[in-house]
Amino acid sequence: MITRRNLLSRIGAAGGAGIMAAAMQSLGLFGTAAAGASEPTPLPADFGKGKHVIVLGAGISGLVAAYELEQAGFVVTLLEARGRVGGRAWTIRDGDTLEMNGEATQTAKFSPGAYFNAGPARLPSFHHGMLGYARKFGVPLEVEVNSSRSAYIAAADGSRIRMRAAINDTRGYISELLAKAINQGALDQAITPEEKAKLLPLLKGYGDLKPDYTFKGTERSGFSTPPGAGTSSFAEAAAPVPLDTLLANPQLPMMQFEDALYMQATMFEPVGGMDQISVGIERNLKRRAIRNMEVQRIRQTTKGVEVSATDTAGGGSYVVKGDYIVCTIPFPVLAKIDTDFPKPIKDAIAGVEYDFSNKIAFDAPRFWEREQIYGGITFTGGDTSLIWYPSTGLHSERGMLLGCYTSGARAREVAKQPLEQQIATARAVIDRVHPGHGVDCINPLVINWSKVPYSLGPWPAWNGVATGPGQEGHIDKPGFRLLCQPTGRVVFASAALSQTPGWQEGGLQSAHAAVAMIAKQVMAQAVADPRRAAA
Ligand SMILES: Cc1cc2nc3c(=O)[nH]c(=O)nc-3n(C[C@H](O)[C@H](O)[C@H](O)COP(=O)(O)OP(=O)(O)OC[C@H]3O[C@@H](n4cnc5c(N)ncnc54)[C@H](O)[C@@H]3O)c2cc1C
Repeated sequence: MITRRNLLSRIGAAGGAGIMAAAMQSLGLFGTAAAGASEPTPLPADFGKGKHVIVLGAGISGLVAAYELEQAGFVVTLLEARGRVGGRAWTIRDGDTLEMNGEATQTAKFSPGAYFNAGPARLPSFHHGMLGYARKFGVPLEVEVNSSRSAYIAAADGSRIRMRAAINDTRGYISELLAKAINQGALDQAITPEEKAKLLPLLKGYGDLKPDYTFKGTERSGFSTPPGAGTSSFAEAAAPVPLDTLLANPQLPMMQFEDALYMQATMFEPVGGMDQISVGIERNLKRRAIRNMEVQRIRQTTKGVEVSATDTAGGGSYVVKGDYIVCTIPFPVLAKIDTDFPKPIKDAIAGVEYDFSNKIAFDAPRFWEREQIYGGITFTGGDTSLIWYPSTGLHSERGMLLGCYTSGARAREVAKQPLEQQIATARAVIDRVHPGHGVDCINPLVINWSKVPYSLGPWPAWNGVATGPGQEGHIDKPGFRLLCQPTGRVVFASAALSQTPGWQEGGLQSAHAAVAMIAKQVMAQAVADPRRAAA
């Protein structure tokens, strides 16, 4: 079978770089990747021969860029400031340390098997770029139980409603109301008699209504008497939660959580921690990331690029020279690095506002499983937003319980509090939802992403921190457009430069776009200078 990659190789061998460039344009390859594809541009294996690319940062964007560039024949030097790869895809295990600007160092103390995904923790099934690299490199995945009907919506006054009751009782009441309106003719202007005839049975099923279209409760919300052996116990549905009680719970809208496209089952997590996909990609690089190499200075000429970096572990300064740079350093960090970027680029970098996000993890005995909660989320609102139960290690003795995951303006305010106060709040909320168990939650770890060195935030808030969520798929700011273009021989790649800045898939798409931009420059140069094409 002729793949696009070897078709292009043959065209290049027969007709030279100019013809290959034209072929690539006509196949729409540059255009596709620049638009942010989850599939890389299929470049010939010797495309980058003799060219050296310096990739700055070994998060998902840098790793994917390095891998795809190497596959296309480039020599790649991957510089990473931390002592590990993965960037924000950071899995904290027993004994690891967590450092934040202005805070004391925390050390993880987890029971065997427990770990904390401090950054990303789940992958939607439609993020096929991420799932594709996991498959390609043999990184095992397991189901991440993102929602549980046994979890709760919990109000600040201590009241809590099981998610199954919140969803099904609300549906019952709404179906009853709608059926009543239809039967009383209130919607005769809006629907035809034929639609009415079809809608009424649908509502009966949707809300589990009685034959007279009233809602009296449903087994879907749970039993008051569970079914037993023989005739000892017949099943009886629980009485419905009164409508005013449902409406009084400020977390009721969270019953729609699992309807959000990014949160829909089936969701995944790599076995053993989210960093495993990054680790798997690095394992397949020809030249591994150079760790503890903090980039200090970036320069470029018409002929090449130069990066100065400091070895933060062994000491000493190094200068690396190359033909191109793929820069994946998060913008708040890059803004503080000495570069010779043109002023509009520097201004755009400095102008990217980053969001805030906090997580708090505890080591705990699995008390939630005794309440039939296996994975999923209880929504609590307030400063901590949720309690997120682990999907792994079911029925083992202990596990990692997430007692807070809050982002946006509220997270900004909470991050100003001492860590002890943040922990006390999270523990108190757990105790309110699972009475008596706050004290069981030990060895806390707090991460305020705005204070994490080499990140300085979880993701950009392109539409402003105060405006809240909803930026996915709708980012079109002048600074965003500018940074999506090369500046000379430097191209930027980052989840921040995708339409999903809060997802690794965006970082991967941006890396593919960066590789396509470099390929375009290589082609342009080869066409302009036939000696280079022949080289
Ligand atoms: C709390 C939280 C929850 C999230 N949840 C999810 C989720 O469930 N699913 C999902 O898919 N995504 C999630 N994300 C988003 C995801 O983590 C990011 O989109 C993605 O990891 C960003 O990758 P990146 O390569 O663009 O940046 P990064 O991962 O930040 O990589 C940049 C790299 O540059 C390095 N660097 C920085 N400064 C220097 C320097 N001076 N010199 C050299 N190297 C440097 C950094 O150390 C880092 O390795 C979450 C993120 C956070 C913070």
